[in-house]
This record gives sequence, structure tokens and C-alpha cells, in this order.
Amino acid sequence: MIHRIDMHNHSCLSPCGSLEMSPAAMAEQAKILGISMLGLTDHNTTRNLGAFDECCRQQDILPLYGIEVTTREEIHVTCFFETLDIACAFGTFIESLLPDIPNNPVRLGDQVYVNAQDEILGEVEKSLYSACEITFEQLLSEVQGYNGLFIPAHIDRSAFSVTSQIGFLPDLPYSAVEVVRLPTRIKTYHNRVITNSDAHYLQHMGTRSWEAELSQRSFQALKQFLEQRL
Ligand SMILES: [Zn+2]
Ligand SMILES: [Zn+2]
Repeated sequence: MIHRIDMHNHSCLSPCGSLEMSPAAMAEQAKILGISMLGLTDHNTTRNLGAFDECCRQQDILPLYGIEVTTREEIHVTCFFETLDIACAFGTFIESLLPDIPNNPVRLGDQVYVNAQDEILGEVEKSLYSACEITFEQLLSEVQGYNGLFIPAHIDRSAFSVTSQIGFLPDLPYSAVEVVRLPTRIKTYHNRVITNSDAHYLQHMGTRSWEAELSQRSFQALKQFLEQRL
């Protein structure tokens, strides 16, 4: 069966994410757009994944439990895990690698986490914009240890991408690589190249979603599809 997929999206918990991006609103919007597998990838935190899981299931959408990590080199990488528990444990680990720099909500935006009814449960105090004390290659091996997906984000962007920070894409065993525009001139070896919306506002959801024929709608089927060497 063919599935519409959008793996990289930010909720109201990301300082740059609009407050309208509650997990409930995101799942509703995805349903309208025909997206059947939806990822949530807040910057350096997973605290909205619990509500996201609940809201996606209410809409019959398969939630993809993700996080967009900022490595020490200031490279953005989206990482995904099969279960909510593993993803949340990984999120706690990543938050612990953030420096103790407090968020400034007035300048940088709120970092609130919510429940499935859009009620605010709390606020992350450390700035989620900071870089984590982990290198690109260390992060890859951590994610592999949990059988997760490691997808360098927007590698063709001029900021916070592997190419902007180190000049090229190292030849490592990625799950896939993400670009903003296809086709890309960047050397991507045998990796599958995908686009995702990286939405921070409801109206941007689905704009760079994609379709795939999968044996079943599951994390493992998606992993297998992505990691097929071309
Ligand atoms: Zn990013
Ligand atoms: Zn992003």
C-alpha cells in the first residue's frame, strides 16, 4: 500500500515552532492532508511525544517518534525510534547534553510541552537552541545502538547542515539523507534522499511530504525501505 509520509515537523515545544502547533492540531492537519505516517522532531527534546502519540492514534496516523539533535558541530540530525519509551529515554539523554543556558521566551520563543487536550504541562528551562555535547559520529553510534533512524537534516541548507558545518557529507551508514530541494548536487553515495516539510506552522505541514509503497505501515517497514542501498 502507498503511504504519504512527513517525518520532520516541529511542535509548540520547539522555540521556533508556532504555539498553534499542538500535537492535537498537527494530527488533525495531517489527517486532512492524507498523511498516514507523521514524525515529530522537536529540537533536542522529546517531551511532546506522549501527547503526539495519543493524538496521532486518535486520527489513525502512525506516529514516528523523533528528535532533531544539534550536534557539537551545530549539525542538525533527525533521529527516530521504534517505541515511545525508547524515544523519550533518548530525549532525556539528549537534554542532559545541553549546556545550562536558560531559554529567553521573549527573544527566542516559548518551549512548552502539552497534553493531548492542548493544556500546558510545563516548560523546558534550558535553551533548546544550544548545541549538545555530542559529535556527529558519536550521535550516529548512539542511535545505531537503539536501532533507530539517523537522517542528517536539510543537508543542502546554508546553516545547521552537515555541508554548511564541515563542507561535505561524510560517507557513513545513514538511514537516509534529507534535502530541501530535489535533485541535489551533493554527493550522497548510496543513501536514499528524501524531503520533509520541517514545518513550524500548520500551513507548512505536508509541503515536502513524500509517498512510498511499504509492505505494512510500521516503523520497521519504513526503516527497511529507507535503508535499502540504491
Ligand atoms: Zn534543522
Ligand atoms: Zn527542523
